Amino acid sequence: MNAAERSTSAQGPAPGEAEHHSLALVNTEFELPGGPYEGLPDAAAAGGWLRERGLGPVGAVAQAELEQLRALRTAVRALFSAHIAGEHPERQTLECFNAALAAAPGVHELDWSATGPRLAVRRQARTQIASVLSELAEEGADLLTGPSAAKLSACGAQGCTRLFIRSHAARRWCSDRCGNRVRAARHYADRERGRGRK
Ligand SMILES: [Zn+2]
Repeated sequence: MNAAERSTSAQGPAPGEAEHHSLALVNTEFELPGGPYEGLPDAAAAGGWLRERGLGPVGAVAQAELEQLRALRTAVRALFSAHIAGEHPERQTLECFNAALAAAPGVHELDWSATGPRLAVRRQARTQIASVLSELAEEGADLLTGPSAAKLSACGAQGCTRLFIRSHAARRWCSDRCGNRVRAARHYADRERGRGRK
């Protein structure tokens, strides 16, 4: 485990990751002052991540599928970042994202169980990974067009590239750890300035 991995496990998930698969996917890769972090380093890790999120049942993930998952991650990060910056994403990014959506579109169907009727989503996918990518993309589209979109933020701590959902208006960091790092840096800068004046 390298320094970045240690600080990540200590850092915990960013606010909003528990509720949004798409945000959790984006945050599997980020920069920290300790170095870059890659949460999907290989196919086995990708399979573990999908199972952990309940996005299965996914058996072993093939190398090509890992690359598809990473490509979707890049596209979702670009879309989220464009939204945060109030910019228009690149056409290519939108196309990549929409391809994932279209790979296994969800079809609504009425499910009638012991508890009564309920609207369910059924996916007819060519492959299991297509179904998973489609579900991830659909969740990301829901986030971008739903009430959480206005709260989607980039961590304000220098060197951190994680995204999160603001739980309250004043929240600027993805974690207490990032907030503490910023406060410590500020305190240090103030002290240095104080010294300079003497
Ligand atoms: Zn952060």
